Amino acid sequence: MECQLTITLAEQKKEKPSADKLGFGVHFTDHMFTMDYTEGKGWHDPQIVPYSPLTLDPAAMVFHYGQAVFEGLKAYRNQEDSVWLFRPDQNFKRMNRSLSRLSMPLIDEEFVLEALKKLVAIEKEWIPTESGTSLYIRPFVIATEACFGVRASHTYKFVILLSPVGAYYSGGMKPVKIYVENNYVRAVRGGTGNAKTAGNYAGSLKAQEEAKEKGYEQVLWLDGIENKYVEEVGSMNVFFKVKGEVWVPALNGSILEGITRDSTIHLLKDWGVPVVEKRVSMEDLYEAYTKGELEEAFGTGTAAVISPIGEMSWNGLRMVINKEETGPLTTKLYDTMTGIQYGQLEDKFGWSVKVTE
Ligand SMILES: *Cc1c(COP(=O)(O)O)cnc(C)c1O
Repeated sequence: MECQLTITLAEQKKEKPSADKLGFGVHFTDHMFTMDYTEGKGWHDPQIVPYSPLTLDPAAMVFHYGQAVFEGLKAYRNQEDSVWLFRPDQNFKRMNRSLSRLSMPLIDEEFVLEALKKLVAIEKEWIPTESGTSLYIRPFVIATEACFGVRASHTYKFVILLSPVGAYYSGGMKPVKIYVENNYVRAVRGGTGNAKTAGNYAGSLKAQEEAKEKGYEQVLWLDGIENKYVEEVGSMNVFFKVKGEVWVPALNGSILEGITRDSTIHLLKDWGVPVVEKRVSMEDLYEAYTKGELEEAFGTGTAAVISPIGEMSWNGLRMVINKEETGPLTTKLYDTMTGIQYGQLEDKFGWSVKVTE
């Protein structure tokens, strides 16, 4: 690959938002990384350039047939002012699995990680320092060929954007109310559920909106065939603590393989907490609930890290979990994971990758 990364710095810098106005994904830094793909030539012209709109032909295939994949990870600035990424190699590995599923060209994982580190180092001053804040990183690939033919595009664009984000839990962790969805499904065996592709999100919005109208914050997705087994919660993976044991829906092709999910399983095993990856049915969960054995429930994902579940509604049955309070295991996982990410706790698994001093 001709991979001479060129860097063009912005002449004008934007004003950085104050810590209380960060929000999620609404501010973007001064630069971005882009790289193009042409069939026969491969990936070429990697560059860091001033943040600017993309010019695309309106017939570009991404607009019509949705060949688009993305990733999400974060950079953290620790107390000594050095900058770290959390398991970024896993994100680019997963991106390649998503690309493969969408018939899109694979990327050189090591090269894009090096490019990302350069970009983050250039934007270091954009990484907020207040507790719980970070720099959200959004790599994505889109099909750019102008063609209405239904086939894989011959050209693509890879982009990395950076966005300073606020603390997810500004007023402390608050357990969410979940609506167990048994009409809409997010993904199905053989579909694209285990790829991080835009269409999965477009297809999930309707259920999310209807759950909001009913007074719930998130949807719990069931399997698309029998409507019995738990898959994910919103755009997070999901865990249940039942009688001292932790149940996690096993990866089945329609569940997205979260990196926070994997890290959570590692931590639990390291602590000697029994973790069972299996098909988790709503019936089993409800039975555990009626016996008083459903002790904690939480979602996992990069944005929130750990998100406690305080209530679930399933076919009119209401389950209140741990008196709608964040449970001790949920809290320990959140504190440990974020402690490692911010460099405050020992990183015994070697998850953190240094970007710059
Ligand atoms: C990204 C994502 C997750 C969480 O993955 P992490 O790597 O932990 O951030 C879970 N479910 C879906 C559907 C996702 O898109």
